[in-house]
Amino acid sequence: LITGKRKATEVAHSVWKNIVRKGHTVIDATCGNGYDTLALLKMVADDSGRGCVYGMDIQSTALESTSFLLEGSADENERKLVKLSLVCHSKMEDVVPKGTPVRLVAFNLGYLPGGDKSIITRSPTTLMALQAASRLLDSGGLISTVVYVGHPGGRDELETVQSFASSLPMESWASCKFEMINRPTCPVLVFLLKK
Ligand code: SAM
Repeated sequence: LITGKRKATEVAHSVWKNIVRKGHTVIDATCGNGYDTLALLKMVADDSGRGCVYGMDIQSTALESTSFLLEGSADENERKLVKLSLVCHSKMEDVVPKGTPVRLVAFNLGYLPGGDKSIITRSPTTLMALQAASRLLDSGGLISTVVYVGHPGGRDELETVQSFASSLPMESWASCKFEMINRPTCPVLVFLLKK
């Protein structure tokens, strides 16, 4: 799981692979340039056209980058399994049909790499999105967050994520955190597993 050169997102992907199987429905709550959407698609897409990735972002440029990446790296049948929406992730329950068993909700917080650094995820909507994700998630499912702490507001957002994670009842949730303690500006991973 850990080597000095691995990126936080790669560590998150390794954790997802233990939870997500072909045919599952998952959510990418922050599509950005689409790398997480693509990784999730490859985990859920099966030969009989099952599996689904709901992807969302508030920037149309992000959804365009995601579509572009998928065009080049996923075949037509796989691409049909991705549903992209230009929407704040706090509204994810408006996008995912009620009663859908969701296996994983992935958050990769902060700003769009290569994009406008002033457009960032913000604590109040991140909290609403985590609440929505916790309602949508099926038992055995995972909420995965990659939280960046190097930009203004990042530490506050980590506080918000941690405080939500620690408020969940231990009978039905296991919350844990992964951080590089000798590299204080590295992103922190917070995982919420629904029992
Ligand atoms: N997962 C992406 C990837 O693999 O390339 C990287 C995501 S990037 C670090 C964070 C993204 O969150 C940005 O594209 C930004 O537009 C998006 N974002 C910011 N606020 C949001 C919100 N309220 N709802 C959904 N997406 C949001």
